[in-house]
Amino acid sequence: MAQAHLTIDLAALCANWRALRDKSNAEAGAVVKANAYGLGVDKVAPALAAQGATRFFVAVAEEGAALRRILGPGPEINVFSGHMAGDAGLIRAAHLTPMINSIDQMLRHVESLPGHPFGIQLDSGMNRLGIEADEWRALREIAIAQNPSLIMSHLACADEPDHDMNPQQLRAFVDMTDGIDAPRSLSATGGILLGEDYHFDVTRPGIGMYGGAPFDDAQPVVQLDIPVIQIRDVHPGETVGYGNTFVAPALTRVATIAGGYADGILRAMGPDAVLWSGDTRCKVLGRISMDLIGVDVSALEDAPETLQLLNAAQGVDTLADWAGTIGYEILTSLGTRYARTYLPA
Ligand SMILES: *Cc1c(COP(=O)(O)O)cnc(C)c1O
Repeated sequence: MAQAHLTIDLAALCANWRALRDKSNAEAGAVVKANAYGLGVDKVAPALAAQGATRFFVAVAEEGAALRRILGPGPEINVFSGHMAGDAGLIRAAHLTPMINSIDQMLRHVESLPGHPFGIQLDSGMNRLGIEADEWRALREIAIAQNPSLIMSHLACADEPDHDMNPQQLRAFVDMTDGIDAPRSLSATGGILLGEDYHFDVTRPGIGMYGGAPFDDAQPVVQLDIPVIQIRDVHPGETVGYGNTFVAPALTRVATIAGGYADGILRAMGPDAVLWSGDTRCKVLGRISMDLIGVDVSALEDAPETLQLLNAAQGVDTLADWAGTIGYEILTSLGTRYARTYLPA
């Protein structure tokens, strides 16, 4: 069988959620946008709900509707993109809570779904989503009178604890929300780690639950085992892969494995990438192809059946460093061709 195998440890994922929850006195929500960062919202969300998560966050209404089918009635599903044109039917039917991002969205919401729950997203400086401070001044009393279920904003630099932007956004958020009774939320994973001032009433962990930085204490959640298709000896001066970028300096045993950039194994990881056979590191040789990668298995006594790209010793952030990206992109790129096994929570 030449299908790579992704193992997702739901027990570790839930332990990470609990650990982030326990870092504050706030209620911990759970961010499960983008198919739970690529790990499978149909498995991840019910596991978190069973741990006591009652508030989930998704990017768009369609994700929210899918999540409602998975979770059933009860949990609050907040939609970051708010109330977009054409969403009223989905929002009503799936009982979603849009995070209103503008005066236009507010008008759309109260006109199309009067009395339907909503939250408010404020822009505290990131300039991505949310109502701006001066718009908010005009809207605030009217919006508050309708009991928003949550008032939130998002930090741009929370993964850099010493960044000036953090206290600046904190101040802006407090200025905009002081004296409001509705629950408030400012922090994703990075903000939770910044300390109590940033916690407010609800936190929104994402990446940390999935085992990624900046939550350094996270338990590893994903393991990726890739089958070896064939093994050959490459003689000094011979090359491996497209463009002849690897030239064998000595006799080298090369395993060709069944994974590539079409599986989210980013080609940009290139020559730094390493796989594991037990405790032995095996370097990638030459370019990563669409479905295949050459790996140096000279150090192994026996021909391996599989090699590991992700394991407890090598997480998504290591791969991200090789590719010049972030763990989030590694996770959300994980392949659709993988066989997936979920270890129960
Ligand atoms: C994605 C996202 C989160 C979760 O962020 P992590 O860094 O993954 O914890 C929280 N809030 C908003 C608005 C987001 O877009």
